[in-house]
Amino acid sequence: MSIENVRYQMRNKPQALMTADPSKYPQKYFKPKGCRECGVNFTPRAPSHLTCSQACADRMMVSAYLSRNYGIRLGDYERMYTQQLGLCAICRGEGFVMAKHHKLKLVVDHCHASGRVRGLLCHNCNRALGLLQDSIEALGRAKEYLICPSDVAPRERKNEPLLPMGQLSLSYSDE
Ligand SMILES: [Zn+2]
Ligand SMILES: [Zn+2]
Repeated sequence: MSIENVRYQMRNKPQALMTADPSKYPQKYFKPKGCRECGVNFTPRAPSHLTCSQACADRMMVSAYLSRNYGIRLGDYERMYTQQLGLCAICRGEGFVMAKHHKLKLVVDHCHASGRVRGLLCHNCNRALGLLQDSIEALGRAKEYLICPSDVAPRERKNEPLLPMGQLSLSYSDE
């Protein structure tokens, strides 16, 4: 599978805008070299030009981001993406980017305790898990609560007596 199937947007200066004046360099021209991403030989337009195409430049950047943050390669991401049919594991949506410079519509979800990568989620579902502190108990109750709120409401509270009604303040004070 190619990265074209992983939908994302560009961040760095597009390669088309990458120009340098060869006459400014001692050798007067740029020698062909191998693309850092795919290995294909190409003629660079600037010394900082490391990849043969914009697609390879984007792949290299996403790859560096994934390995820096999650210890996985782009190939790992693509494999999960294909396995999940390009959809969030929870809501089944395609996901979305939060900012123009973000590239991946589905984010890598990982266990904060072990660091283990669990799968790909949209930003909302990833955040939802975080807001419920990745708690299987809380998430289970959230589901039960949606089905029947009164079944899930707390019935007992250990160690502390319930507040007498008089102490249960339902009004706001201005002070
Ligand atoms: Zn390339
Ligand atoms: Zn989702």
